[in-house]
Amino acid sequence: MEQLKMQTRQQLFQALFPEAPAFRWRQVMLTLFDSDRTGWEGVTTLPKDMREKLQSNVSWMSLREGIVLESRKGDTKKAVLECADGARIETVLMRNARGHWSVCVSSQVGCAMGCTFCATGSMGFTRNLTMDEIIDQFRFWHYHLAEKTRHSKTKSESEPSSLISNVVFMGMGEPLSNYESVREAIRTMLAYTSLGSTRITVSTVGLLPALRKLLRDPLWPSIRLAVSLHSADSDIRKRLMPSSFDTFLDDLAEWTKEYFSLNDERRRHLTFEYILLSGVNDSSEDAKKLIEFSRRVGKVKVNLIPYNKTSSGHEGSREESAKKFLDQLKRVGITATIRKAMGDDIAAACGQLLQMQSKK
Ligand code: SF4
Repeated sequence: MEQLKMQTRQQLFQALFPEAPAFRWRQVMLTLFDSDRTGWEGVTTLPKDMREKLQSNVSWMSLREGIVLESRKGDTKKAVLECADGARIETVLMRNARGHWSVCVSSQVGCAMGCTFCATGSMGFTRNLTMDEIIDQFRFWHYHLAEKTRHSKTKSESEPSSLISNVVFMGMGEPLSNYESVREAIRTMLAYTSLGSTRITVSTVGLLPALRKLLRDPLWPSIRLAVSLHSADSDIRKRLMPSSFDTFLDDLAEWTKEYFSLNDERRRHLTFEYILLSGVNDSSEDAKKLIEFSRRVGKVKVNLIPYNKTSSGHEGSREESAKKFLDQLKRVGITATIRKAMGDDIAAACGQLLQMQSKK
């Protein structure tokens, strides 16, 4: 589908107030990330006529709430949000052991990459999200937590909004296919929230043209990157990820050399995501190939992901196979962890996001 031309809030603001001094836009942005505000009318730092024009012409929130689901354990929530054109996306909020929250954002409606284990991949691609639609997923949860805190009767019930400590681009879509909007959304979050650059992670299938571009892009922020590897065997990877190709692993190894040579290795270490699928990529031989490849690329962390059930026909690795795989990596000194499965009872776990019908 042709990408819809949607004006961002900043473009609308500039069209409405071409003479406004730069600090006015900064005031607007600070307001948008202030969870005590609920609309333009209450923004008394702006002149009244400006507030009125904004009220009639610029949306306060580009996404409308559909459904919010909460996992049985209460540590994961998933929201279905509706864009102005009716497209629906999903975003997830997860609480870690320290009580801090991570927000998982979507970058596209659907996805063109077609990874065979992923529910989003089965939807196909509809369109890229705008920068506003990306940052508004963060704002949605920021307001949601602030609202909960205001209404909580006891301290233990409170969910302090200031504790969104991480943002991961692991929702619907391939973030680097929507390069400019994702980059600007990250820059905006870094400028107007307390998030530091190591608290934001972009997960990619490994789109090499975009990975090469970001190495030379002075505007690309120094956030963390995670490459969805899923197999260090080219044929298996091609079967799992139709976006892969014969020379992908060699090309990625080349790219990582440059990545590490241009960046401080300790701050900008690279993660390989590896979904464990029974009988597909979880044998001792598969672990050996992953070890060899990890050694080729240098300081890399491996994040093993338990497979969350979708209609793909894949089966997740059994617990003991996953543990064996992990031990094999650790024995040779590779930093590796198994990601805790969260929100699988509300289809909010990795690879389960799919455009749901929202409540009208
Ligand atoms: S895993 Fe990510 S890149 Fe692959 S189809 Fe799903 S959303 Fe797209």
